[in-house]
Amino acid sequence: LNAAATAYIGLGSNLNDPAQQLDEALTNLAALPDTSVTAVSRIYLSKPLGPQDQPDYLNAVAKISTRLGPTQLLKALQHIELRQGRKREVRWGARTIDLDILLYDGLQLDTPDLVLPHRELCNRNFVLLPLNDIAPELILPDKRTLASLLANTPSEGIVPLSKGD
Ligand code: ATP
Ligand code: CA
Ligand code: CA
Repeated sequence: LNAAATAYIGLGSNLNDPAQQLDEALTNLAALPDTSVTAVSRIYLSKPLGPQDQPDYLNAVAKISTRLGPTQLLKALQHIELRQGRKREVRWGARTIDLDILLYDGLQLDTPDLVLPHRELCNRNFVLLPLNDIAPELILPDKRTLASLLANTPSEGIVPLSKGD
């Protein structure tokens, strides 16, 4: 049996009632085998990345404790995406739900299917701000602090919604 790992999952949605999609995804995450959700950030409203002719996004980050390995976890997340009606059409196009593994313990990995930490983690305020809600003391595997990344990322185009909004 694997030891439990701590992972951070980035959630994003801009289709079919995004608040409901995030809620459903959190329920689905908590229902994964050998996995529990241990913290959830506030929800943020953010401008889309890439094509601008799509609705704004709701984003959040969840902290989980899991005995699934990184590849098993990725497959499980993709299964949840499919169940929630995710279709892959346009790059960075509108989607019902996107679930990215931001961090998996201190693991650094660069394979065709899985890059850890997530490649864009450091550049995206819609990931860094929610991470800061639940892990302000976070240090990346390369020793950079979350605080230093936040200091270098503009907080344009994003607003926190109060919990339950
Ligand atoms: P971005 O990766 O820039 O956030 P996206 O989330 O829209 O864009 P997807 O179409 O959801 O991109 O995923 C493309 C591929 O990224 C997936 O098939 C998956 O194999 C790969 N991938 C690599 N690293 C990760 C990771 N850490 N978490 C989730 N998917 C990853
Ligand atoms: Ca993504
Ligand atoms: Ca993704």
